Amino acid sequence: MTDHLLEVKELKKYFPITAGVMKRTVGHVKAVDGVSFFVDPGETLGIVGESGCGKSTTGRMIMRVLDSTAGSIYFDGENITRLHGRKLRRIRTKFQMVFQDPYASLNPKMTIREVISEPLVVNKMLSGRQVVDRVATLLETVGLRPDDMMRYPHEFSGGQRQRIGIARALTLNPKLVVADEAVSALDVSIQSQILNLMVDLKHQFNLSYIFISHNLAVVRHISDRVGVMYLGHMVEISPKTDLYDNPLHPYTQALLSAALEPKRKGQRQRMILRGDVPSPANPPAGCPFHTRCPQAIEQCRTQRPVLQQVRPAHFVACHLY
Ligand code: SF4
Repeated sequence: MTDHLLEVKELKKYFPITAGVMKRTVGHVKAVDGVSFFVDPGETLGIVGESGCGKSTTGRMIMRVLDSTAGSIYFDGENITRLHGRKLRRIRTKFQMVFQDPYASLNPKMTIREVISEPLVVNKMLSGRQVVDRVATLLETVGLRPDDMMRYPHEFSGGQRQRIGIARALTLNPKLVVADEAVSALDVSIQSQILNLMVDLKHQFNLSYIFISHNLAVVRHISDRVGVMYLGHMVEISPKTDLYDNPLHPYTQALLSAALEPKRKGQRQRMILRGDVPSPANPPAGCPFHTRCPQAIEQCRTQRPVLQQVRPAHFVACHLY
């Protein structure tokens, strides 16, 4: 039992590696290897990390579109880790996803009215005139015109299509929206319009977001707290200001030093990361970051650091603390 809107504990996703005609399992890709965090009502948790760090897999497990290998997911006081069938469909109305590519996630043969109302029709929640009214309200809520509802996705710009994707996600009044690289495909000026819309909607409907992105500036714009993932692990999680001003984990320090604006870079010594991210099919023993960490000590090669609180609400998994 938990007071948080969402809490995940030691969540893992291992994908089997098979070989031979019998498809024998010869190993596993450890895409997510024991992450724990929570999200409170009305809060935005950003999750950052490079491609392949497990952030999208984590989001898909929370959405229950991907079964976890181990660990648990509590949503709104209920353990949803293994829910299936009718019980899963009922709880799914409370959490929705916004995808990176709005065009790919919208059926091109459906009108916008059909796209947005589909969850209402599937869940038999409204009918006839009520559906049309609800779609009109949702379009206005995301900054589009109700008259647009009979048009098709290809008639809209990328930013407008992402607004449609957000309207669809809001159709069933969710409590949590998982946005996976939701603005990454958009021009920078459109990105900030969509981020501002999402912030407005959060306040309007007391929504919680998990905002997944590789883009540190975008995550900073929208998040209350930020978690940093590396090779399937959550290595640091903290309130936004503390994380960006005083990052503790050497990986977070390197990410920020590479990504932030020149003025900030000048205030902090530039860190260059050597080597590639190890394969999640053969992750290193000890700290997952030790093969690239400029501050690694002997202990890092053999002992896995646990995520622990070292400042108020600031957690880090590193032997230096
Ligand atoms: Fe670097 Fe060791 Fe900390 Fe890992 S535990 S980040 S290798 S210092």
